[in-house]
Amino acid sequence: MYHANQLVGMTLGELAKHISPGVTTLALDKIAEEFIRDHGATPAFLGYGGFPNSICVSVNEQVVHGIPSSKRILEDGDIVSIDCGTVLNGFVGDSAYTFEVGEVSVEVRRLLKTTKESLYIGIQAAVEGHRIGDISSAVQVYNEANGYSVVRELVGHGIGRQMHEEPEVPNYGRRGCGSLLRKGMCICIEPMINMGSKNVVFEKDGWTVRTRDRKPSAHFEHCIAIYPEGPRILSSFDFLEKVLNNK
Ligand code: MG
Ligand code: MG
Repeated sequence: MYHANQLVGMTLGELAKHISPGVTTLALDKIAEEFIRDHGATPAFLGYGGFPNSICVSVNEQVVHGIPSSKRILEDGDIVSIDCGTVLNGFVGDSAYTFEVGEVSVEVRRLLKTTKESLYIGIQAAVEGHRIGDISSAVQVYNEANGYSVVRELVGHGIGRQMHEEPEVPNYGRRGCGSLLRKGMCICIEPMINMGSKNVVFEKDGWTVRTRDRKPSAHFEHCIAIYPEGPRILSSFDFLEKVLNNK
């Protein structure tokens, strides 16, 4: 699980080098697919439920599951969520990060910062003997206290040999409720947080989810394992952050 997820982190790092105004979302998809295959893995999303590409690329008001396109050109001030999955030696990695394209407004940057912080707050709640609702509640409370809303229709999940396993990991809920967190469990925590209302629309392409009010949405995801001594993050933003810090 660690190696599959580290490869996702490395792929996000490779993509970080190429995210800038003028690049198409399909070009990013090709870079990701080649990078994943060059490392002896396969893209987990390609063909999953019929998904046509290797990564999900969701721009601005798109929440998740955006389909890469040669017609979608990233522009200065956009935000772009990249969700990436790999299958390596029979295990699945899954992680997502929302990148800034060029110069992004202060308001949008605050949305990204808060959403990312809420991911780590959720991870801290992923302790053996606690419950899924402890994670859900921690993520929800933090984002709502900052004036944002939590998408209800899409949730985090267990992960292992399959990308989506039990249990579901919602980004909203009540402390003390839901499945018990046990050592050895691997789960993906992935807050999807809207600047405006929580409502989303499913586009006619059968995949893309966007905010109904067309205000921006952010998405950050880590895959973690629950150890007796606490949660361990298996995926990594280190590779991409190294690239961003040198840009
Ligand atoms: Mg994902
Ligand atoms: Mg996921």
